[in-house]
Amino acid sequence: MKKVISIILAISMIFTLFVPAFADNGETAEHNPAECKNVPVIIVRGMDFGGLYLDCGTENEAPAINTDAEMIVKGVFSAIGKGIAKFSFDGIIDGVKDLATDIFKSLSMDENGDSLYNVGVPKYPESADNYENLRNGEGFELGMTRTCIEAFGEGHTYYVNYDWRLDPYVVADDINETVNAAIENTGHDKVNIVCCSMGGIMTVAYLTEYGYEKVNRCLFMSSTFCGAQVASDLLCGKVDIKAENLYNMLKNMTADNKFLSFIIDALDFVGGFDALTKVTDFILDNYKDEVFADVIKPIFGRMLTLWGLTQPEDYENAINYMFGGRNEENEAFLKRTDALQEMMNGRTALISEMLENGVEIAVVAHYGTPVVPVYENSDFNGDGTLETYQMSGYATVAPYGETLGDDYVAKNPEYLSPDRVVDLSNALFPEYTYIIKDAPHVAGSYGTDYADFLVWLLSYEGEFYAGASEKYPQFMVSDGSQKLEKF
Ligand SMILES: [Zn+2]
Repeated sequence: MKKVISIILAISMIFTLFVPAFADNGETAEHNPAECKNVPVIIVRGMDFGGLYLDCGTENEAPAINTDAEMIVKGVFSAIGKGIAKFSFDGIIDGVKDLATDIFKSLSMDENGDSLYNVGVPKYPESADNYENLRNGEGFELGMTRTCIEAFGEGHTYYVNYDWRLDPYVVADDINETVNAAIENTGHDKVNIVCCSMGGIMTVAYLTEYGYEKVNRCLFMSSTFCGAQVASDLLCGKVDIKAENLYNMLKNMTADNKFLSFIIDALDFVGGFDALTKVTDFILDNYKDEVFADVIKPIFGRMLTLWGLTQPEDYENAINYMFGGRNEENEAFLKRTDALQEMMNGRTALISEMLENGVEIAVVAHYGTPVVPVYENSDFNGDGTLETYQMSGYATVAPYGETLGDDYVAKNPEYLSPDRVVDLSNALFPEYTYIIKDAPHVAGSYGTDYADFLVWLLSYEGEFYAGASEKYPQFMVSDGSQKLEKF
């Protein structure tokens, strides 16, 4: 009898030990989607420029962008050496071309626009709470992911990482798999999509290819859903460094440092920027075609993403610049770029149809920070990375540092920003578009006011339009800590 009792005791002890473990897992088993108000969130991240790996996931894994310091130092010395040896600038340019090729070679695509080398990215097939780096994210998409995990519960947030060079239609397959996994694992029948930056065009591809039946709400955050001027300019060969754009960028970068800011102004006063751009003009005039032919075209020319981002009015130009006279031999590739242009041309009608069928959207765009001053249209107002014009769905936006003017009359005065810089009257979806001055590209860092705004965008249950909450009006101003205020 004693033996029986001790066996029973032992069994119950084992049971007690295991019950907490079962209870932990039970959280998902008990989850009842019919009662749960948290719609699963799919975060489609933006371009992770340095996030591509050769032989990803194997023991040979190495960053696809080769930034080995020793190699770069050698490359720079070799460039200078070649310049001295040839007593000319040609040698330096040759050296720089070699160096750039060494750094970016692994990003090259084959002639059809697929990766030439075995390049990949880490994937996150399970819900985001299963991954330490996603659970502990701080800034940008990682911060958003952590915010969503904490706001909407374990198992309700998914993170889509992808090779940003690929055909958006290829990335659309990944988004589709993630959407299906979220629906299957949670039992909910729809998801909310948050697409950031480059994730915008990838999401347009998903919606075009797979439809919107599984989408409850879609947030376009600092996104490329209308392409990007920088890609358009690059593929058209419109590389340019203008004194004023360079000044604007440096002035913005040094805004918090009175001394440096003064130096920048002094440099501008003595004509330093004009002198500097005389040098860059000389380089561009003499070497641009060569650098494009030897470096830019072979490495970046066949990235289908860039072709999707190209503006419709620049598309023919871009084809002529990149493939002039050789359209026939590039037929297979151009078929894919045509398909992407067609997709972007159909985007507005598709999103309008989504809205008519009950899918909710928000477009969130920022302005007030100059873009990188290396292309012809670098005077566009932006968020430091992309142009507000495209991110906002083609609002009328004054060039950086300017306003639309005191005489400017907005078609709908309510849609003009208080500083007369952005007018949403002509934007694609003005009633669903938020404009935030001085917020950085892809905001939403963990623990900030902006993160609360993101949670509100994903969970608000009333009629969903820009300004539906007094707390988050259509026009807002951000500060360095992403604190939001009514403009
Ligand atoms: Zn749920």
